[in-house]
Amino acid sequence: MAEPTTEQLELLLALQDTDTRIRRLEHQRDALPEQAELDAAEARVAELVREHDEVKLALDGLASKQRRLEREIEVLSERRDAERARLYDGTVTNARELRSVEAEIETTGRRIAEQEDELLEVLEGIEELEARQATLDEDLAAQRQAVVERTTARDEAAKGIIAEFAEVGVVRDQQARELDGELLERYQAAAQRGGGVGVGRLEATTCSACRIELSRADVGELLAGPPLTTCPECRRLLVIPD
Ligand SMILES: [Zn+2]
Repeated sequence: MAEPTTEQLELLLALQDTDTRIRRLEHQRDALPEQAELDAAEARVAELVREHDEVKLALDGLASKQRRLEREIEVLSERRDAERARLYDGTVTNARELRSVEAEIETTGRRIAEQEDELLEVLEGIEELEARQATLDEDLAAQRQAVVERTTARDEAAKGIIAEFAEVGVVRDQQARELDGELLERYQAAAQRGGGVGVGRLEATTCSACRIELSRADVGELLAGPPLTTCPECRRLLVIPD
């Protein structure tokens, strides 16, 4: 291969600049703050849904406890009413039996009061959880709205990057077309090995691709050599200025 012209070497460095710009755009796209904000809003929604489910489960538990207590109170009340009826309908006349019925009524009354206290606690718990649920419903609605808004913002931000991608892609195609085919291949192979950077320029005593300071002897050798060579440190293509 003949030595590339200065024009071709400048074009090669320009292509590298374009590719660097493309990589920066890719990074920007992946690291959009709007994307991070959207991720955060979505995570918050998931957290609220989880909490909402927990509250729902606790409410279901309390509701069944409420039903059980109400049934028990009903049964006990019926029993007490029946005992009271026996007390007054004249079927019990024996004094000892009367006392026993009275004692039974008192015991049942105490149990009813206990169950009622427990029921009151359950009802208070339900009220508290329902209030919590209402707050969660509001938070969820607001957070879901935030997700919608942030999705729009993310799409809007990405639109700019996508437009820039298209613009820079046109430039790259043009540069790649104008560059000698063999040179393009060498550059692309070096870029693939070099994490996206395939060519550097010797700037004073350093290679602009790896930024490693070269020895005086190396620099002397490079300056005396061909205009396109490889960096002795990073093995990427290296353009030696006139
Ligand atoms: Zn280098």
